[in-house]
Amino acid sequence: MTFAAATSCAPALQAWCFAISPADAAAQCARILPIFSDSARRHMLKLAERMGRAKPSAIMLVAEKAKKLKAEGRDIISFSIGVPNFLPGDHVYAAVKDALAKDSGQYGSNRGADALLDAFLAHLEKAGLTGFSRKNIATGIGAKHVLYNLAEALLDPGDTLVFPTPYWTSYLDIADIVDAKVRLLPCPAEQNYKLTPAQLDAALPGAKVFLFNNPSNPTGMVYTPDEVAALAEVLVRHPNVWIITDDIYHRMVFDGVGYKNFIQCRPELRERTIFVDSLSKTYGMPGWRVGFMAGPEAVAQALVNLNSNHITNVPEIVTAAAIAALTGPQDVPAQKNVEFQSKRDQVLAMLDSIPGVKCPRPQGAFYVFPDISCAFGKSHSGKKIENDVDFCNALLDAKGVACVPGSAFGEPKALRISYTCPTAQLPEGLKRFREFFAELA
Ligand code: PMP
Repeated sequence: MTFAAATSCAPALQAWCFAISPADAAAQCARILPIFSDSARRHMLKLAERMGRAKPSAIMLVAEKAKKLKAEGRDIISFSIGVPNFLPGDHVYAAVKDALAKDSGQYGSNRGADALLDAFLAHLEKAGLTGFSRKNIATGIGAKHVLYNLAEALLDPGDTLVFPTPYWTSYLDIADIVDAKVRLLPCPAEQNYKLTPAQLDAALPGAKVFLFNNPSNPTGMVYTPDEVAALAEVLVRHPNVWIITDDIYHRMVFDGVGYKNFIQCRPELRERTIFVDSLSKTYGMPGWRVGFMAGPEAVAQALVNLNSNHITNVPEIVTAAAIAALTGPQDVPAQKNVEFQSKRDQVLAMLDSIPGVKCPRPQGAFYVFPDISCAFGKSHSGKKIENDVDFCNALLDAKGVACVPGSAFGEPKALRISYTCPTAQLPEGLKRFREFFAELA
């Protein structure tokens, strides 16, 4: 504690502090701290400034409210949180049992166990991302942790991070914590929630990092290989910009659209592109917390160094589960894609039947992001709906259907429907959503 901090405390403490030298004040304050009231302590013990900028995830807040109503006995259908409604296959649990029996009990590699790195390299090759070696890889406790580490590794305070809106909520919060400036590129429903090459070109001068998410959370939109190629042409013209591609949904693509990364279009982008992936969604393993990056060796090494000071290693048992998921039978993710595509079709059919709702057709992940601004200015059950938050609150109160307001993703005209609820619940949830619209006055 500094002398300035110590002397801005409760009056009794101040007087006491002034009677001794500044050098002794901090040590004395720490010693007598326990005898002060909570309120005196609150004045003395300030959190770091950056914590004023760290906010809990808006998605979690909606999910918590839905959970609370459910616990109170309400019949709630949650379209809020983006968690897959399936478990990894039996082979994953078998690998965990085996690993428990052999548990070394020792610290592991800061980069990730060799067998995990090799399994991820093989997984990358299947996506057409070849030419990487172990030195290009780093692991983390989920993609969220990997993205946070990348922000620490690439962005100094005041550096500019560019990404399109709508965006996944944590991008903004992570940028805030590392004190980066954010340049948002608005991509409304009218442009299919997709970034155009001209927008990107205009936004990159002076930027340090461009963050791209394909397929997108919250919109579910997928950039076609041609669209990715057109953006890659722009990126080549801005050689001073790092590129992060958060492609954790890249295996969840429908309608045969296909997936491509910038480095497959223009190999010279490889020296400054970082691909981020996770087991959470594809393998039904969000709670296991395994994320990866593949990119330039220096960036991977920076993340290894951060790991060595933060987490040390992805736990040994989780590592075994991750290897089994990546190398074992791939039928669960494949079946789930078929199921998600059919659920996407049901959601779109319902939205198409509501006059005024605009919804670009998502072709990946498990989200739909309709523009519901036609409801603003109307009322439900006597409650005025001025914006997306009012809409989601009224929908939850009246119909027990939880959606996340679009403003959580930087697009206040929309809301996000995550359709990972149990298949049997989906028609009922959609029926209630349609009824809610029909009852607006
Ligand atoms: N990126 C995107 C776009 C996401 O939607 C999520 C999770 N919702 C993450 C990263 C973080 O994933 P993980 O569970 O691996 O931390």
